[in-house]
Amino acid sequence: MFKAPTVPFNQERSQAAFDRACEFMPGGVNSPARAFGAVGGKPLFIERADGPFLFDIDGNQFVDFIGSWGPMIMGHAHPKVVAAIQEAVAKGTSYGAPTERESQLAELITEAVPSIEKLRLVNSGTEATMSAIRLARGATGRDKVIKFSGNYHGHVDSLLVSAGSAAASLGVPDSPGVTKGTSSDTIVLEYNDVAALQSCFAEYGDQLACIILEPVVGNMGCVPPQPGFLQAARELCTKSGAVLIFDEVMTGFRVAWGGAQSLYGITPDLTTLGKIVGGGLPMGVYGGRKDLMDHVMPAGKVYQAGTLSGNPLATAAGVAMMQLLKEESPYAYLEQQAERLAQGLSAAATAAGLPHQVQRVGSMMTLFFSEQPVLSWTQANECHRERYAEYFWGMMRAGIYLPCSQFEALFFSSMHTPELMDHTIDAAHTVLGAMAA
Ligand code: PLP
Repeated sequence: MFKAPTVPFNQERSQAAFDRACEFMPGGVNSPARAFGAVGGKPLFIERADGPFLFDIDGNQFVDFIGSWGPMIMGHAHPKVVAAIQEAVAKGTSYGAPTERESQLAELITEAVPSIEKLRLVNSGTEATMSAIRLARGATGRDKVIKFSGNYHGHVDSLLVSAGSAAASLGVPDSPGVTKGTSSDTIVLEYNDVAALQSCFAEYGDQLACIILEPVVGNMGCVPPQPGFLQAARELCTKSGAVLIFDEVMTGFRVAWGGAQSLYGITPDLTTLGKIVGGGLPMGVYGGRKDLMDHVMPAGKVYQAGTLSGNPLATAAGVAMMQLLKEESPYAYLEQQAERLAQGLSAAATAAGLPHQVQRVGSMMTLFFSEQPVLSWTQANECHRERYAEYFWGMMRAGIYLPCSQFEALFFSSMHTPELMDHTIDAAHTVLGAMAA
């Protein structure tokens, strides 16, 4: 049952909690996007979550369109995931020694994503991309890395250059503290620009260790790859001996069971995963071609390790999540509901006379306040961000919890019913209609 907050909704406790958090943590949060900097105002503090809903500490209920920024594809507190964690926790929280469940999870992942022949479990998406880059450099003996502006790969020094997500929203795509030396081996190109990619390979071909990219970008809002772009990246890497890394931390098990690589039919050499694969617990994965992965220590010489890697709680949650996805395959349902939502949001913006684009791949979606399709970071940057902030707070007052930036994709779960989608669309008509007036 959904009961939208009363208007204006009470934020008293959240605001006090935020003021207190600011005394202890920089900006009051442990990850910058959570501070609502891109939309203004103070963040809501969450007490609990259940299925498609979030409940804040003032007792307000929201339909959640973030899902912890992607992981909660089967809804919050799914009974099977909760039971798996409960069973695991009673047996101890960390051993620092191998368990059978690590292989069980690895087998499920390799089955879903055939390009991953071998893999390593780590603790976050950032660790996964950082390790994949090191492996690409170690295996090729080359230094240079190509990334694309507006793509975010976590807070890895060498990748925190023209980064998307909160780095973009907060205006620091190039973080202080990343030295010139570190970033000098990172080449930044515009997403979807095949000509730029070709001329970069023509100039640096034999110095390039890898390309890392989001095969569907979620971190400048949802930007799908244009036909031929992923193909060009694949062909250029194959020809020059560079490693193609698909960062599927966001898209893995989200846009399809086999990730974006299965949707577009392009096989990367390495893949990074996170978010869904840990069932809501801290987990990242990097994996790919066996011959490449065998460079990782102790099989090979590229060093990478982790005290809590393959943690028994995280692997229990991950296995439960992967089994659920395999057995219940929510993707057809998610696609149906995504289409319903996309059409509804677009109709609402059209009725309000607001120029917009709804871009989506599966259940990843962004309503851009833009007159033209958004295919690159340059175009994303031209969107009407103030309008997004107004939309965001209007929807929040109607009980719809959206991403707090124009540059973040929304996500939903298999627990979001058609009725909740219709409720969301009705709210968008009211909110966008008022913005037009
Ligand atoms: N790669 C992508 C595509 C992401 O979206 C993110 C996080 O949002 C990361 C890497 C970093 O993952 P984490 O936040 O788990 O370090």
